Formats: sequence, structure tokens, C-alpha cells
Amino acid sequence: MDKFIITAAITGSRIMRDVAPHIPISPEEIIQSSIEAWRAGAAVVHIHVRDPETGLGCQDLNRFRQVVEALRAKTDLILSLTTSGIPGRNLPVEERLCPVTLKPELASFDAGSINLGGGVFINDQAFLDQAALTMKTAGVKPEIEIFDLGMLMTALRMREEGKLDDPLHFQFVLGTPWGAPATPKSLLHLYEHLPPHATWSTIGIGKGYLPMAMMALILGGHIRVGMEDNIYLDKGVMARTNAELVERVVQIIQAYGRPIASPSEARAILGLKKQIG
Ligand code: ZN
Repeated sequence: MDKFIITAAITGSRIMRDVAPHIPISPEEIIQSSIEAWRAGAAVVHIHVRDPETGLGCQDLNRFRQVVEALRAKTDLILSLTTSGIPGRNLPVEERLCPVTLKPELASFDAGSINLGGGVFINDQAFLDQAALTMKTAGVKPEIEIFDLGMLMTALRMREEGKLDDPLHFQFVLGTPWGAPATPKSLLHLYEHLPPHATWSTIGIGKGYLPMAMMALILGGHIRVGMEDNIYLDKGVMARTNAELVERVVQIIQAYGRPIASPSEARAILGLKKQIG
């Protein structure tokens, strides 16, 4: 079984300080929180940046660049940049894909449309085709986010069509109020449809984070934790840092005995040839 890759999703695009007083907002806070998560055991950080005016997520290339350059200088983290913008606000395609120009090793690729937070997060086939081609051209590996089985079928079809190349890497996003639930049965159903040679990680939104971490641990997958997905360390106990959420799963992984992947080991597992930039 591969070593266990921990991804930390530092801030996301929509959780605000009134809900999570400690969530990183400014580039400096996002950089610092990423470094702490790396020191705690994360090999990958999933990065959004925020609009200083509204506090919400934005696709501002300069802010991405500031975070990317600092993390490349100070850490050996694998960077996974978002292409979602704010789900439900459906930014222009060029804006959504602008982080790919920074050539991160991974970029999120949401493999279908879904209701999210009162809006519709649109990822129609034309967008998916353009995103896949843009990432392929830039040498950026798609981290294929899957909210339900239909999205997985979409990704498998695009693989058949030669638009997504093996080995695919999936991120199962389980436990949103609109997609597949964060249950063992739900995860297993997706797991059984994985193509050969694929790697996968999972996110349990909210209280699903520990059960999904444990499922990934025993099934040979990987895990994403962090304040984008869950702001509670335990029931009623709010996380003050992303590092605390990483440390919480590190304790479980170490007790179980599966080794944790360093960034360079994670690169080998994910088939990332080298750090770009
Ligand atoms: Zn995200």
C-alpha cells in the first residue's frame, strides 16, 4: 500500500470569519497556514485566494502568484490550485483557469455540475473540455473532484476520449448537502468504479472528515482535510489552524501504522515528474 498523502485545503472560497474566526483570508495568512500544515505532515496544499474587499474567494492571478512564489521558496509542498472560483457564481472560463498559467503540479477539475450553497456550480462539457486541454497543454495534472457517481462517469468517458490521461487522480468530495454522503457505503461505491492505476483521495465535509480519513487509510487512498472542508476539530471544538486538522489525522494514521508521504514521496505516488517553477 502506498504511503498516505495528506492534502490540506487551507481556506476555500466561502467560509467567512463570522463562522470561522481563524480562517485564513489574506495571502500572508494563507501562506503561513500552508507552511504550518506542511510542518504538521501535509504533502499537498489546495489553494484558493480571497478578495480583500468581500473576503470571498476570487481568481486573482496576482494573489495566486504571491502565494505560489512564497510556498515554492519556503517549502517543497505540492501545490494544487483551485479552478472553481466561487461555485455558484460561475466566473468566466479564462478567470477560472488562470491559476493553471502558474503551472502548479495539480489543479482542481470538477467533473460535472451540481447544486451548491443555493446556486448551481456549472461545469458543463464545454468547460470540462477546455479545462482538460488547458491543463494538458500546461503539464498540470487534474485533480478530478467527484461529488457523485455521475461525475465519475463523466471523467471515465473523457479518459476514453483521450481528454484525461492515465494515471488519473481523484478527489472524492463527500458529505455536501447536494452530493454523495460521507458514508463508507458511498465511498465504496465510487471506489469500485475507479479505473486501473488511478490514485484517489477523499474529503469528508464537516463531521465526515474523520470517518472518511479512516476509510481512506484502510483502503489505500489518501485524505484531504482543512478549513475549506471542515472547521471543527471535534464535536463543538473549532479548529484554530489548519495544522491542527492535519495533526488530528496524523495521530490516527500513526496509531494505525501506515507511513505518511513526504512531498517528494507524494510526487512519486501521483506520477508528478518534478516540481515545476
Ligand atoms: Zn477548493
